[in-house]
Formats: sequence, structure tokens, C-alpha cells
Amino acid sequence: MDSVYTITQWITSALLPPTCLCCGRPGIAGMDLCAGCYRDLPRNRPACQRCALPLASDLPRCGHCQGHATEYEAAVVPWRYEAPIDGLIQALKFNGQLPAGRLLGTLLGRELARRGTPSVDALIPMPAHPHRLRERGFNQAAEIARALGVFTGLPVRYRWLVRRRHTSPQTGLGRAHRERNLLGAFAARPAVAGRRVALVDDVITTGSTLAEAARALKQAGARSIVTWSVARAALQL
Ligand SMILES: [Zn+2]
Ligand SMILES: [Zn+2]
Repeated sequence: MDSVYTITQWITSALLPPTCLCCGRPGIAGMDLCAGCYRDLPRNRPACQRCALPLASDLPRCGHCQGHATEYEAAVVPWRYEAPIDGLIQALKFNGQLPAGRLLGTLLGRELARRGTPSVDALIPMPAHPHRLRERGFNQAAEIARALGVFTGLPVRYRWLVRRRHTSPQTGLGRAHRERNLLGAFAARPAVAGRRVALVDDVITTGSTLAEAARALKQAGARSIVTWSVARAALQL
């Protein structure tokens, strides 16, 4: 996650001239993305103002958030998990293309700056399953948080939230089953007490993992929790 190898690779890629990771044209504003592909990014609108679930019409809340409270205060998720955002996330996650992580973190930072999002004390990447971390050698959420930290100047706390045990994949399970499956999956360090934190992730799929991570942060005394993620997938039940 923060190995010397990863950091060296990250710095090396940061020194190359910006080139669009989607189509190879010159990048804009110091990013590895061209003007055309930037325009094509799939905006997550309309979406639930609480959990950022894509909605078909312009309602303030999704059906679930109308009847349930969340441990986090707001989710900023600017894009949907569609082309070319899905390809960039996959390039990072499955092919280890760290420049994609830098681009996604920078894009998220620009979007947060544009919206005037409330300030926080620290960024906390969504922790990866330990076996995924071993398999890939890095956590994609940490790579995005790292770039977001560089863009915003906010500290990234890689160890304030950890995975306690392995949980089965969440897709294909109903909401109640997913939530049971995740109980106790995270542990937050006492350092989060009294802090305003932003949980950073690559893609929110069902939202159950996010809810459980936020619960662990709240239990450890976090003053406020927001979540900043690159993309939101449509709910699959
Ligand atoms: Zn392009
Ligand atoms: Zn919602």
C-alpha cells in the first residue's frame, strides 16, 4: 500500500507529460485525461443526496434513505460506474496502473473543490481485504486517497481504519444478509476520536460496506463522517 516500490512508481509516473489514459491524446490541466474524455465522464445525476445512489428522476433521497438514517452525513460521488470511469478503475484495480489512481484522485479533488465541499481533518481510504492486498500489492482506495491528499493537502491516515476479518463478496446478497455478513468487519483506531473524516473509495456498489465502515468510525468517536468516492454503481439486488 505504501511500499517503496509503489511510491517510486507513483513518483516516476507523475514526472511524465500528461497523456490521456483513455485515448492517448495530450492531457489537460496536468491530468492524464484529454478534454474530450473529460467531457464524456458519466455524471452521477440525478442521485440520492445522502447515499449518491443513481436515480431515474430528480428526487432528494432514494427509497432506502427516506426511511433510514446513515452513520455518514453525506456522500459525494461525482460519477457513475460507466465508461470511461469503469475502465480507469479496472485499470488501477486489476492491472495495477497507478497513474489511473492518480488521475481518479485528482478528478475527485477537482470536483470537491468545485462544489465547495466542507473541510475535514483527514482522509481515510476504505481498507482492502488483507488477502486482496497480498494479491495485488496495493489498495486502490489508498492510491486514490494518496492523490486526493496531494491535491487537497489533507493528510491520509492509512491505518485509522482496518479490516478485521475476511467477508464474502457482497454482490448477489440481499441487503439484510449483506449487513449481517459485514458486522464487525472493520476496526477504527482511537485516533479518529473527535475528528472530521472523509472515507475515500473507488466505487460504491451496494453501500453496505460503506455503512459498516462508517459505523466503526462512529463507534470509535469520529466527530463527523463524509464519504468521497469516484463512482457509484446502480444497485444490484
Ligand atoms: Zn482521451
Ligand atoms: Zn440514498
